[in-house]
Amino acid sequence: MTLPEILEKYWGYSSFRPLQLEAMEAVMAGRDSLLVLPTGGGKSLCFQAPAIAREGLAIVVSPLISLMKDQVDTLVGNGVSAAYYNSSMPSEARADVTRGIREGRFRMLYVAPERLVGDGGEGFLKLLESLPVSFIAVDEAHCISQWGHDFRTEYRQLARLRERWPAVSMHAYTATATTRVRKDIMAQLGLRDATELVGSFDRPNLVYRVLARATLKAQILGVLERHRGQAGIIYCTSRKEVDSLSQWLNDTGWRSRPYHAGLPDDERSRNQDAFLNEEVDLVVATVAFGMGIDRSNVRFVIHAGAPQSLEHYQQESGRAGRDGLEAECVLIASGADFLKWRVMLEKNGEMSDARRGLLRDMERYAASVGCRHKRLVGYFGEAFAKDDCGACDYCLGELETVGDPVMVARKVLSCVARVGQRFGAAHVTNVLRGSDSEQVRSRGHHQLSVFGLMKDATIDELRGYVDQLLAHGLLQQGGDEYPILQLTAEGLALLKDAGAHPDLSLARQKRPEKGRLPKRARVETEGWEGVDKDLFERLRAMRMQVARKRGVPPYVIFHDTTLREIARTKPTTMGALRHIYGVGARKADDLGEMVIAEVQAQA
Ligand code: ADP
Ligand code: ZN
Repeated sequence: MTLPEILEKYWGYSSFRPLQLEAMEAVMAGRDSLLVLPTGGGKSLCFQAPAIAREGLAIVVSPLISLMKDQVDTLVGNGVSAAYYNSSMPSEARADVTRGIREGRFRMLYVAPERLVGDGGEGFLKLLESLPVSFIAVDEAHCISQWGHDFRTEYRQLARLRERWPAVSMHAYTATATTRVRKDIMAQLGLRDATELVGSFDRPNLVYRVLARATLKAQILGVLERHRGQAGIIYCTSRKEVDSLSQWLNDTGWRSRPYHAGLPDDERSRNQDAFLNEEVDLVVATVAFGMGIDRSNVRFVIHAGAPQSLEHYQQESGRAGRDGLEAECVLIASGADFLKWRVMLEKNGEMSDARRGLLRDMERYAASVGCRHKRLVGYFGEAFAKDDCGACDYCLGELETVGDPVMVARKVLSCVARVGQRFGAAHVTNVLRGSDSEQVRSRGHHQLSVFGLMKDATIDELRGYVDQLLAHGLLQQGGDEYPILQLTAEGLALLKDAGAHPDLSLARQKRPEKGRLPKRARVETEGWEGVDKDLFERLRAMRMQVARKRGVPPYVIFHDTTLREIARTKPTTMGALRHIYGVGARKADDLGEMVIAEVQAQA
């Protein structure tokens, strides 16, 4: 069978995604390769399809047991003989897999790295050595690099595989884009004359927004309201925040589960499973909630606090919309986040110039005014061809530049000066808005000339200005316990001389006009065009039932993309069903009648 035939038969896909064919050809030719594609770009297929096309057994190194299990379940569901082997399996299951390997039953074997190189892996390696290994694929290959965001020591030893199988080609796959990580992967794995394929980092189906943190809970609820009944992840920067936010959401009627490294193992994996199995749609988490989140229909990712680098942001927000359908990524950031990171990194002795630079880039992104897609891909060294992405707050016209930025900046700066450079953004905001509160009065700040100077601005707007002035270097943060605002030399210069910064620009969220709905991104409307939502929901319920019965997550049965297409085109024959995206031969045999019955039940 040719590669396109394999794609059609086993996956029900009719064409290749960018770079997939090139990547598969490298594997077919037995030439070492490194493929970099963003999350959801379709990396797994690049080793799975060649594993079917080539003779022998393909070995796939994968870091997480949950990830392996998902992929193998999906493969088996598509009619591909694959298995995984790891230490968490009961011994009978392991014996069964070993037998299968000996009998040559599998095309693909997923293994954890410690099985291959650690102590106790010897016997298993001996077994593999006696077999015709077709190639070795290393998934999530950035785990081998200390520069990556998810370094794992076991990965370091994978170079030894090359010694064991000098003639077998090795192929690395990652979503981490930086050149440094890429080089490191090549060197650490000992790839030879490797074909390097780096895809575009743009994710056109993601709608990016940035909000200045002001009234965090209200801002979060605003996003949740847009996504009722859909799956989402809310990232926080500390465990304490995770616990309290998750608790608060549950108290407010939004069912959610917390996830962070401080929870007992069993509770943590229960919460993750609940999310993957669609028992619950919201997870509040720290970065610990990461790899292995293969649920493809995550419709939004909120960051309640800025991550420490744009790499982290790209990874974490990238968990949205893996099925290619519309999804929203909202960063709710404040200048205080960056101070917090700096203090924490200093305290842990992890601060370096590189780290400082990464934080600075993240801070600039949060305070920037311009197309988010362009900014993000630009950061990864890619030019962005479009002028209007149609899928970010800037391009959707949700931001507006302030008419007289110098005057606004000078008002904020002078308030910072008047309160003695001893207060944080919240207090400065209160004074500027003329809020008649105890904190303001007790300090006599209601008598300052700046009191109420900007009473028409909203809290959100003022917090946004403060963040932008921080990012522009006109303000800085000091203080140990909580961040206080101070003027920089540049800020002082602008206070003294209104002409000191002629290029200054400031932006704010446009206030919604009464009776006018906000503009929707094209991706958001397109994905639902012609879809019978009622049928879609019934298909979802059917998928859930099948998934429960088989003990696999729903996305292993069908992706939302497939269900939407069925609910759009309403196929009533097997032939028509086979033309649907994501319905391969096995899936059609297996579930076709059930799907058609559901479609007809409505007619
Ligand atoms: P990655 O590993 O790069 O994050 P996956 O391999 O999980 O991405 O692929 C993301 C989704 O896209 C999966 O549901 C996969 O089945 C689907 N996909 C991959 N290749 C194609 C293709 N050529 N056509 C349609 N869908 C595809
Ligand atoms: Zn844009």
